[in-house]
Amino acid sequence: MTLHIPFENTYVNLPNRLFSRQKPTPVRAPTLVTFNQPLAESLGISGTQDDQEVAKVFSGTMLPEGADPIAQLYAGHQFGHWNPQLGDGRAVLLGETKGYDIQLKGSGPTPYARRGDGRAWLGPVLREYVVSEAMHALAIPTTRALAAVETGEEVMRDRPLPGAVLTRVAASHIRVGTFQALAARQDLEGLQSLMEFSCARHYPDADTPAALLKSVITRQAHLVAQWLSVGFIHGVMNTDNCTISGETIDYGPCAFMDAFHPGMVFSSIDRHGRYAYGNQPEIIAWNMAQLATSLLPLENNSDTAVEEFTHLVNEMPGILRQAWRDVFGRKLGITETIADDDSLISQLLAMMTDQKSDFTNSFRYLTDSSVTSTGLETHKDFPNWRSRWQDRLTDLEPDPEMVMQHANPFIIPRNHQIEAMISQAVSGDYSLFHALNTALAKPFEANPEWDHFTSPPSASERVTQTFCGT
Ligand code: AMP
Ligand code: MG
Repeated sequence: MTLHIPFENTYVNLPNRLFSRQKPTPVRAPTLVTFNQPLAESLGISGTQDDQEVAKVFSGTMLPEGADPIAQLYAGHQFGHWNPQLGDGRAVLLGETKGYDIQLKGSGPTPYARRGDGRAWLGPVLREYVVSEAMHALAIPTTRALAAVETGEEVMRDRPLPGAVLTRVAASHIRVGTFQALAARQDLEGLQSLMEFSCARHYPDADTPAALLKSVITRQAHLVAQWLSVGFIHGVMNTDNCTISGETIDYGPCAFMDAFHPGMVFSSIDRHGRYAYGNQPEIIAWNMAQLATSLLPLENNSDTAVEEFTHLVNEMPGILRQAWRDVFGRKLGITETIADDDSLISQLLAMMTDQKSDFTNSFRYLTDSSVTSTGLETHKDFPNWRSRWQDRLTDLEPDPEMVMQHANPFIIPRNHQIEAMISQAVSGDYSLFHALNTALAKPFEANPEWDHFTSPPSASERVTQTFCGT
């Protein structure tokens, strides 16, 4: 039985300025690293028994029937600077199935490649595979990983490295930057088509630019609140890495924090901390203001539209604050939060900052006192804080402990484990890659088998910088 993907491609019906037809470039010796069978099944993909065939298809070496491969156009603000010409430089959308995009990343250069080689090396491919699937298991909206394939070719970075292709699945790859690209070209017809397409695909109840903007703002506010709740730092929240669907996309220099600090930055290229942990709420609002600006031409830039869109963007911090209170409230066992809970949460985070406490393990410690301490309880303010918290929990329904068990992961993808996994894989040993995937699939079930993944890094293991890995 040959591999079958039930393609139903719709993006190609949009005006052709939005994409370039582009076939992936075949690779020399595709070898399957891993294939996400449950995800494949949910997408209606069948006939995946033959690893060699799977490797050929998901490296771009063999085009599956029904694929209509394209590279998508987009633009964007990178670190606040406008870049009119981005687009899929090394990615190709094979097509859509069951409403999801199937995209190869690292599959060769496209017309948007600028000076890039269109390729990816194994490290970032495995990182994205593990971290995006972990994010999904944490119940946070994200693109998924369907396959990782080694190409059998070397790619040249600071040294020759093994090449790989990642297959990414997304509700869509439409970005704030996709709208920006059309607005910058004053392509009103394109904008209108993309707006209608985005509404139909992601927000069936919306049918105007304002309704789309409001929907994206709401989703993105909840997304960023969820990132904060697991100590996630995206690292490169450029407008081209900000989806209309509200899914997390682009696992480049991202990181999960070990010791808590609101100013934490990992990305080697984020020199001024624009995308620091605690700046993410402000940045997402800035990105939404760019989306609003791109949608305005559809309303002839009228004063009423400017006023309405401004109002929607200005509402975002309030939506995000409420979402933040709710996610952190649940981490403390509170499902019905009140404004007064803000100070309970903030005081805890301040103590964690003072003590350099491990973020994930601190919440585990509060959930289950048999968990090893993180230094939190030795803070001078902790006893008072704890009694205030206990008072707040009195007679709460549902049972706070149950709520906390489901809100505080016992395992997250820690940077030092990811780094160790990548160096092992480069030397041909995939055991850590597979172990991490298995362990991270059930983040809320404390499993002694994976205890070693829950320890913060030792001083010599600590990762202080992450890289884009392009
Ligand atoms: P990213 O940092 O992944 O968000 O990528 C920013 C832009 O650079 C996008 O337009 C990518 O398609 C492009 N790009 C990144 N790496 C490569 C590469 N190796 N070859 C061609 N284009 C690339
Ligand atoms: Mg990107």
